[in-house]
Amino acid sequence: MPDFPLLRDQTRPVVGAARVTDILSARAAKSEPTLSFEFFPPKDDDGAATLWRSFDKLLEVNPDFVSVTYGAGGSNRETSLAVVDRMAKQVPTIGHLTCVGATRASTREVIERFEAAGVSSILALRGDSPRDNPNALAEGELKTALELVELVSRDTNLEVGVAAFPEKHPESPDLIHDAKVLSLKQAAGASYAMTQLFFTVEAYVELVESSRQAGATMPIIPGLMPISNADRIVRMAEMSGAKLPTELLKKFETADEAQARTIGIDYSIKLAADLVAAGAPGLHLFSLNLAKAALEVARGAGLCR
Ligand SMILES: Cc1cc2nc3c(=O)[nH]c(=O)nc-3n(C[C@H](O)[C@H](O)[C@H](O)COP(=O)(O)OP(=O)(O)OC[C@H]3O[C@@H](n4cnc5c(N)ncnc54)[C@H](O)[C@@H]3O)c2cc1C
Repeated sequence: MPDFPLLRDQTRPVVGAARVTDILSARAAKSEPTLSFEFFPPKDDDGAATLWRSFDKLLEVNPDFVSVTYGAGGSNRETSLAVVDRMAKQVPTIGHLTCVGATRASTREVIERFEAAGVSSILALRGDSPRDNPNALAEGELKTALELVELVSRDTNLEVGVAAFPEKHPESPDLIHDAKVLSLKQAAGASYAMTQLFFTVEAYVELVESSRQAGATMPIIPGLMPISNADRIVRMAEMSGAKLPTELLKKFETADEAQARTIGIDYSIKLAADLVAAGAPGLHLFSLNLAKAALEVARGAGLCR
C-alpha cells in the first residue's frame, strides 16, 4: 500500500452509530430529504490531498452521511478502509463492500475492520471481475450481493444497503428481474438501496414502481452524478448503460466547455429538485472526490442546511 500521510489525521472521536434508515426517518419526519456524498479511495498522495480538501468543504454543508467505494477484488482494500476510518470519525459513513473473488473469511475480516472504524452501515455489492482477473467471480466463494447481504445480516448487527439500477443492471433481462432480486435482498435483511447514476426522473420513478410491485418496500436513494463536463458524462453514461436525454446532448453539441458546464449543472439541479418532488427520500451525490460541482447541485436544489 502506498504511504498516505494525509490519511493518518485521526483527531476526532468516532461519530455515533447512526444508521441510514434512522437518518432517513428523522429527515422524513421533518419532510426533508437527506443529503449525502460518495467518495472513492485516492490512488496517490495528490489524490489524497484532493480528497481531504473536498471532504472538508463538503462537510461544511452538513451532509447526513457519506459513503466510500471499495475496489472489486479488494484491490484498494487498505486505502478504502483508511478513508472510512478517518471519515467515520466526523460523519456517519457507509462502507461499500464488494464480494467478487472474496472468501467468506476475508469478507468477515473486512467487516470487522469496518465495525472497528465505527461504521454501522455497509453497502453490500457483488462488484465486477477486475480486468486483470476475469475469472474472479467464478473463483470467489460469494457469487452475488444477495449472499453478502445474507452473510452480513446473519453474522453482524450492521445495517445493510444494496445497489439498485434505474435502467436495469447490464446483466439483467429487465427491470422486473432486478426488482425481484431487490425484494430477495430485502427479505435477507437489506433495509435501503442506493442507485446507479441515471439522468431522468422517469427512470427513477419506474425503478421505484417496479420494486414496489415486486414487494421491495425499502427506501431507494437516487445516486446523482453532477454534470460538470460534457465529454466525461457521455463516457460515464456509456460505461454504466445510462441514457442521456437527446435534448441535453443536442445542447452540448453547440456549446463550448464553459457553456456545457453551465448547461450540465443546471440540468443536474433540476433533476435533483424533480427527484425530491417525485418522492425521493434523499440524494446521494457522486462527488468524484471534488467539491465544487457537488456543492453547486446541493445548494441549487436547496439541499444544504
Ligand atoms: C450505488 C452503487 C455503488 C457501487 N459501489 C461499488 C463499489 O464500491 N465498488 C465496486 O466495485 N462496484 C460498485 N458498484 C457497482 C456494482 O458492484 C456492479 O454494478 C455489479 O455489476 C453489480 O453489483 P450488485 O451488487 O447489484 O450485484 P448483484 O445483486 O449480485 O447482481 C448482479 C447481477 O446478478 C443478478 N442476480 C443477483 N442475484 C440474483 C439471484 N438471486 N437470482 C437471479 N439473478 C440474480 C442481478 O439481477 C444482476 O443482473 C456500485 C453500484 C451502485 C449502484
